[in-house]
Amino acid sequence: MTEIFDAIVMYQRDHKEKDLMVKMLTRQAGKRMFYVRYGKSKRYQFAAEMQPLSMATFEGVINTSGLSFINDVKETKPTSFLMTDIVLNAYMTYIIGLIDAAFVDNQPLVKWYDLVAEAMQKLQKGLDPQGIANYFELQLLPVFGIQPTWGECVVCGRRDLPLDFSEKLNGTLCQQHWEVDPYRMHIDNRAVRILSKLAEIDLHLLGSLNLQDKTKQEMTRLMDKLYDDQVGIHLRAKSFIQQLDSWQNRMINRKPESGEDKS
Ligand SMILES: [Zn+2]
Repeated sequence: MTEIFDAIVMYQRDHKEKDLMVKMLTRQAGKRMFYVRYGKSKRYQFAAEMQPLSMATFEGVINTSGLSFINDVKETKPTSFLMTDIVLNAYMTYIIGLIDAAFVDNQPLVKWYDLVAEAMQKLQKGLDPQGIANYFELQLLPVFGIQPTWGECVVCGRRDLPLDFSEKLNGTLCQQHWEVDPYRMHIDNRAVRILSKLAEIDLHLLGSLNLQDKTKQEMTRLMDKLYDDQVGIHLRAKSFIQQLDSWQNRMINRKPESGEDKS
């Protein structure tokens, strides 16, 4: 049966000589694999809509098992800013990869579809992409079976003292109880505060997100540790983001030297 549905393209891969398999996050029916006959052909009319991170309203057939099909595109949402900005593209690809890893196919994911759509709007408005990715990492931790305490001391519940993070106690730890875990992570208090806020807030209520480089590095250090040690996944998109960061740092370090070359 033909139906109208909203979807975001997760990824595509070649199939045979001329066809494509396109994985989509549909709002109504979760993650689905679509078979696109002649999708690789230059004349295929919906080639742009089949690109990763494209978002559109489609008409097609969603089958309860097996492959689904696209017949038409009703309305395309503006996501071209994600195609032209390598950093935004990398973070959004990572977010989609996390959702792909967290859920099985064919399970309704309305909440997560809406969050991804919201995240795209936030990125377009200029909110920090790393902060938005950290938001998804935090929100997905319980889906991966990990439920840390955020924003209050896991021992005494105090919220007013400087907080660190303890993997052993699975949560934030106030200054008075730092000795409880000698291996606490020594995370910058500001980074712990922002992550705690992101763990509790609704994404649409997040109006601004101004983060200093130092704070962002500390947020990454904590989230990467949790995902490496406890979730146990390391996505290719994450490695790419880490590469971008290291290139950026090398360019910053090189600046005085290149200035001399010019003179
Ligand atoms: Zn405490």
